Amino acid sequence: MQFRNFKMVDYVVYGRGSFNQLDEILAPRRKENFPMIFFLDHFFVGKPLASRVPLRGKDKIVYVDVTHEPKTKQVDALAAELKAEFGQVSGIIGIGGGSTMDLAKAVSLMMTNPGSSADYQGWDLVKQAGVYKVGIPTLSGTGAEVSRTTVLTGPVRKLGMNSDFTPFDQIVLDPELTQNAPANQRFYTGMDCYIHCIESLEGTFLNEFSKSYGEKALELCRKVFVEKQKWDDECDDQLMMASYAGGMSIAYSQVGVAHAVSYGLSFLLGTKHGIGNCIVMNHLEEYYPAGVKEFKYMVEKNNIEIPTGICANLTEEQFDAMINVSLGMKPLWENALGKDWEKIMTREKLRALYGKL
Ligand code: NAD
Ligand code: ZN
Repeated sequence: MQFRNFKMVDYVVYGRGSFNQLDEILAPRRKENFPMIFFLDHFFVGKPLASRVPLRGKDKIVYVDVTHEPKTKQVDALAAELKAEFGQVSGIIGIGGGSTMDLAKAVSLMMTNPGSSADYQGWDLVKQAGVYKVGIPTLSGTGAEVSRTTVLTGPVRKLGMNSDFTPFDQIVLDPELTQNAPANQRFYTGMDCYIHCIESLEGTFLNEFSKSYGEKALELCRKVFVEKQKWDDECDDQLMMASYAGGMSIAYSQVGVAHAVSYGLSFLLGTKHGIGNCIVMNHLEEYYPAGVKEFKYMVEKNNIEIPTGICANLTEEQFDAMINVSLGMKPLWENALGKDWEKIMTREKLRALYGKL
C-alpha cells in the first residue's frame, strides 16, 4: 500500500482581525522591484476591505470576476497581463471565496510554468513552484484554503491542477471577513463543507486521520446550522474552522457521490459548486440516508430554497455529456461505493438520478 505523502500549507494565522497582520507577513517575501498582487473578489469593489489592503510601491489590486467559476482561459489571461506589466511579481494574494482563492493559486503557478493552465489539469503535472501565494477566505466552506488543487474549467475538462506546488504558502483565517456574507451564499458554501464531511466519513477511503478532522468539522457545522438560533460572530468563527478541518479531512480521503454528480451539472449548465452540491444532496437518500435527512432539516431551519427541476428540459445528448463527466471522476466513485462502483453506478442509474434534479 502506498500512503499519500501530502504537502500542506506552510503558515497559518487564525483570529478576528488577523487580516491586519498582512503587511507584516508579506514584508519578508517582497522582492525588490516586484510587486505584490492582490486578487480581490469583485464583491469588494468600493467596500471597506479594499482600503485595508496593505499596498506598497507598485503593488496592485486586481478585482477578479467570479460570476462564473474559474476557467483556464481566465487564468492564462491574468498571468499574461501580469507578466506583460511587471515581468515578474513577488506574490499573489487571493482574498475572496473559493473561486478567488483558486484563481490566486492557479495564476501563481502560471507565473513560472510554461504553456496554458489547461496543460496542467490533472495530477502532478505541475513541475515548478509558483510565485509566493497567500489565501484569505471571505466565505467559509470549500476548504480551498488548505487543498492541493485549484478547480478549473478548461476547453475539454473541469479538473484541478492537483500538485504539491498548489497549496498556499500562507493562509490568513480571519472570521471577521465572512460576517456580511448573504445567508443563502453562506449556506451553500457552508454546505460544501458539510457534504465534504459526510462524503469523507461515509467513504471507503476513510482512515483515522480523515475521520478525526471530518468529525470535528461535522460537529462545527451542526453547531452553526442546527443548534444556533440566530447567526452571530461565533458562527463565523466556527464555520471557518469547519472549512479548514473539512478540507484536511478530504486531503487524506476523497469526496463522493454529491460531488461526482454535481461536477456534471457544473460542466454542462455552469451550476456553481456550493448550490450544485446542495441540489444533488437533496436526492441522495439512497447513499447517505442520515446525512441527507439532516441536510433537509438544515435547509428548512435556515429558510433556504434549493432549486429543483434544473434538468427538466435537457436532451438525451446533454444527459450523456453530464454522465460522461461524472463517471470520469473515478476516485470519487470508488471512495463512495467501493472498488466495484462501476457495477453499482451504471449509466442508467445515473441518468435516473440526473432526471430527478
Ligand atoms: P465563490 O468564491 O464562487 O463566490 C460566490 C459568490 O459570493 C460570488 O458572487 C462572490 O463575489 C461572493 N462573495 C465572496 N465573499 C463574499 C462575502 N464575504 N460577502 C458577500 N459575497 C461574497 O464561492 P465559494 O462557494 O466560496 O467557492 C466556490 C468555488 O470554489 C468554485 O469555483 C469551486 O470549484 C471552488 N472549490 C475549490 C476547492 C479546492 O479545493 N480548490 C474546493 C471546493 C470548491
Ligand atoms: Zn466541495
